[in-house]
Amino acid sequence: MRKLFTASNILEAQLLDLMLRNSSIRSHVKNDRLQSGVGEIPFVEMWPEVWILEAEHWVKATEILRQFQQTRVTDDWVCPHCSEANPGTFETCWSCAKV
Ligand SMILES: [Zn+2]
Repeated sequence: MRKLFTASNILEAQLLDLMLRNSSIRSHVKNDRLQSGVGEIPFVEMWPEVWILEAEHWVKATEILRQFQQTRVTDDWVCPHCSEANPGTFETCWSCAKV
């Protein structure tokens, strides 16, 4: 396993994870429980991390990371159907696939 990216919030980590999975790259999000189980984990120094499981996927994963970071310049929007936040470049909701 190799760490690809340290996200500033869990949503960012999950979106990158989704993009990787859509490209058939096996990935794993660590420290993804920040916002659940209040009181269990100190809310400090526990940034979500996206890890790549297969070494052969690394180069492609870094290309996806670059695309992902370019998408961050646009404003996020919140899906009216499921209340999930989406990057501005997503035309349909990543969670429920509705506009
Ligand atoms: Zn939705």
